[in-house]
Amino acid sequence: MVVALLALAAWIMHHMFGATTGWIAFSGGVVMLLLHHMKHVDALTRWLKLPVAGKVPVGSGVWDYVFSLLYRFERVKNKQQQQLAKTLVRFRQAGRAHPDGVVILDADNRIEWCNDTAESHFDLNVETDVGQPLINLMRQPDFVAYVESGDYAQPLELRTTRGGGAIFSVQIIPYGDAQKLLLSRDVTRLEKLETMRRDFVANVSHELRTPLTVLSGFLETIKELQLDPQRSRDYMNLMAEQGKRMERIVDDLLTLSTLESAPNPPLDERVRIVPLLERLRTEAEALSGGKHRVVLDAEPGFDLLGAENEIASAMGNLVTNAVRYTPDGGEVRITWRASADEAEFAVNDSGIGIAPEHIPRLTERFYRVDRSRSRATGGTGLGLAIVKHILNRHQATLDIKSEAGKGSRFAARFPARRIVPAATLPETVAREA
Ligand code: ADP
Repeated sequence: MVVALLALAAWIMHHMFGATTGWIAFSGGVVMLLLHHMKHVDALTRWLKLPVAGKVPVGSGVWDYVFSLLYRFERVKNKQQQQLAKTLVRFRQAGRAHPDGVVILDADNRIEWCNDTAESHFDLNVETDVGQPLINLMRQPDFVAYVESGDYAQPLELRTTRGGGAIFSVQIIPYGDAQKLLLSRDVTRLEKLETMRRDFVANVSHELRTPLTVLSGFLETIKELQLDPQRSRDYMNLMAEQGKRMERIVDDLLTLSTLESAPNPPLDERVRIVPLLERLRTEAEALSGGKHRVVLDAEPGFDLLGAENEIASAMGNLVTNAVRYTPDGGEVRITWRASADEAEFAVNDSGIGIAPEHIPRLTERFYRVDRSRSRATGGTGLGLAIVKHILNRHQATLDIKSEAGKGSRFAARFPARRIVPAATLPETVAREA
């Protein structure tokens, strides 16, 4: 178009001023046009070498149109790139926040990226360890064997010495172009629970098997031998004793399992403490058969909020234990002290006491310091586990102080939210039996 206009102007000049002038004008026009295009090509080339966003050159004539197209293209591309960068950042953030450890490995098992959890599981540092072979940094033999095996169908259970013996479940998932995703999960707590479950089943079986063996032994004897009536009666009594023992174990197990699944104890039900303690004292006296001095020292003024049957069971267990583990002639003292901020129920005894190494384990199921003494007094080894559970459910704590040969103090402390002023103040209860 421009060339056609130039030719027309040259042709007009050719006719007005002669052929030479016409040709000079035409050639001059072509040279100007060429310079114009060269200038824009140069600007384009410079920009293409270093395409700074938003710095697309401006031009005139046809170049104005070309540059505006380029500007539009560059803007769209820029937007897409920003979108992509944002998505990448989001993915990385999600990867970092993932509660499991994530490590991306290349075909040679070199670290390409890992998240914070993987850093803490494997003691890695994403800043300095990227590009390093993972097995140079995590040298535990079973882990190295797993990474090198190429068989990743099953996860590896990795037992480490870190943090007091943390256990991780590690699995490699191959993907893409020979890359691998290594996932790690801390299963320490799950493993401990599983061990506890196994121990518990083993303990229950053992506890029940002992009386069962005795029972079936007696049954066998009665069946095989002709026993005189007195002997038979003795055997029957022993069998009934074993039956009772099994019953007590099953009852306590049921209590524990009910407590585990029961809804939280109420915060709006009053448990009248003083009458409850009076009852416990009477029961303790009955159990003692007059062989102990049972003292009740309770300050009236405050009651508890919670499940009455549970609180009675927890306090009853502590009182019963005090009688069972105190030799004849000893003293069992039940105290109740309460203010609006804290309430304490305690049982002191002058009994056999407990050596310090046993104290932290007393609330474990079936833990007993002296198995035969516990059995002889009808114990199941579950009493303090039940007490602990009930107190937990009432946000209360159990404090145990004891000295072997001197006596023990078991104290349950209740928080302010479980304490309520007594409805009607009964007269002070400080009677001694
Ligand atoms: P058990 O049925 O054996 O009494 P518990 O769970 O009630 O089971 O108690 C666990 C163990 O704690 C008991 O076997 C005993 O060794 C010890 N124990 C509990 N209370 C006392 C106490 N007042 N004095 C001495 N030892 C106690």
